[in-house]
Amino acid sequence: MLRPILKLGTAGLDKIAAPIAGIDSSTRQLIDDMIETMYAAPGIGLAAPQIGVAARVCVVDLSVGRTASDLMVLVNPEIIERSGMQLDEEGCLSVPGFTASVLRPSRIVVRAADRDGVTRTIEGTGLLARALQHELDHLDGMLYVHRLRGIQRAAIERRVRRLVNRGQW
Ligand SMILES: [Zn+2]
Repeated sequence: MLRPILKLGTAGLDKIAAPIAGIDSSTRQLIDDMIETMYAAPGIGLAAPQIGVAARVCVVDLSVGRTASDLMVLVNPEIIERSGMQLDEEGCLSVPGFTASVLRPSRIVVRAADRDGVTRTIEGTGLLARALQHELDHLDGMLYVHRLRGIQRAAIERRVRRLVNRGQW
């Protein structure tokens, strides 16, 4: 089922999501809805808080559904290693129409359970490292906009406020 994606400024996006205690049929339904919603957007990642569910679940697929093996489901993910630095353009389905350059580690290792509850270790560099960190940030109520310097962040927030006032957000 497609779920509406919450946008910057919506209550719920800024909450710290709770860990999943056990993967049951409702968790798997949530995961399937998230995958469908990510592909329909289309996007390369989606976190549960973006559809209003405060649970530590996210999905990432750099191929946007073209390569089945690229799909990653991360339940209760944790970063266990980070190194290097990269500066690159980033966007978010919750901040449509905007992008900005964000500084992040260039390599990370994440430990998470998959859709079947099997613990996996995922190493990501470049765009994958960026996408994983972006989605994990959502689980702590953080958007990439919050990682920008004050002046950049203020510019996006001002333009979003203008869209909100015009009923276009
Ligand atoms: Zn995002």
